[in-house]
Amino acid sequence: MIFLPRVQIDLKKIRHNAKTLLNLLGSRGFSLMAVSKVVLGDPRIVRELVKAGILCIGDSRIENIIKMKNAGINAFFTLIRVPSFIEIPDVVRYADISLNTELETIKAISKEARKQGKTHGILLMVELGDRREGIMKQDLNEFVEQILELENINLKGIGTNLKCFRGVVPDEDNMSELSSLAHEIQDIHGISLDLISGGNSANYNWMVSTKNRYLINNLRIGEALFLGKETINYEPIPELYTDIFKLFAEIVEIKKKPVSPRGKITSNGFGEPVKAPNRFYNLGEVNKKRLQALVNVGRQDVLVDGLDPILNIEILGGSSDYLIVNLKNHHPKLGDSLEFHLNYGALLYAMTSPFIDKVYIP
Ligand SMILES: *Cc1c(COP(=O)(O)O)cnc(C)c1O
Repeated sequence: MIFLPRVQIDLKKIRHNAKTLLNLLGSRGFSLMAVSKVVLGDPRIVRELVKAGILCIGDSRIENIIKMKNAGINAFFTLIRVPSFIEIPDVVRYADISLNTELETIKAISKEARKQGKTHGILLMVELGDRREGIMKQDLNEFVEQILELENINLKGIGTNLKCFRGVVPDEDNMSELSSLAHEIQDIHGISLDLISGGNSANYNWMVSTKNRYLINNLRIGEALFLGKETINYEPIPELYTDIFKLFAEIVEIKKKPVSPRGKITSNGFGEPVKAPNRFYNLGEVNKKRLQALVNVGRQDVLVDGLDPILNIEILGGSSDYLIVNLKNHHPKLGDSLEFHLNYGALLYAMTSPFIDKVYIP
């Protein structure tokens, strides 16, 4: 018995994408940290990454790392989110490395690591323009000096993250800047850093076009791995599958309904302004009808704008529990399922929704 709605996950294609990216990065001198947050560290999926030869897994949620460890997944784990104080005992226990930007937090990690008799690795993040996590570069040397004094702490390296908040593109300028900073730290403090982590899937275009990777030797890749696209222009990456995940949802109502609403108009269920009616009034289509379906996923389950139907139909919108679809020339039956590709946001929501089944194709 198949339960709808469901995300169908092709494990063979995941293995293929992992191997292909691992080889591509390897041939250019980069190690690959596979980022599993979009699949919530799903052990069925992450096991395929490890089978493909990936040694390092990064996840933004310590809960996901605990889940993977408990499932017996044998890899190095990095928490790629700055830890909160309450997480520190678990971070030390379950993660090998965490990404950090606050001295007070690193001191607390040091204390906890001593208590647990462990050494914890720190990937120090530097702010290079995207204005999300990271210390300002003028503070770097002072910061490093203090970290090096802490017990049970191993400064593994430095990294940066671009694109995610303000859309800053990784390029020669910011990448060579990160590299110079690494060089400077190694010089001034007489240490060598294992990990110079240049960024995420948005670094793909830079990686394949740059003549010089400088000292950068690692990328943290999630979206490109699972969705097969780079994230500057969202172009498919050669030889990668872009259809690993598909959403199937069931049609629970089919009716011919007027295109335009009837009555006085306020905001929608999310308090957002409704813009559709005027368009149709202007076209003089007040009485026009179309075949409309309700589908059993909603904004509690997916990012509606991130769904791309495989049939030539039109998504009109979503409420908490329904997707509202214009069926155009298609005539499915009640109970039929509709199939959608998902972008990163839609996949993130769908994997997180407890109302969506996950079905694996081996
Ligand atoms: C999510 C994340 C990544 C991976 O990003 P993708 O765009 O999925 O490749 C890398 N680094 C950090 C810090 C992240 O939060």
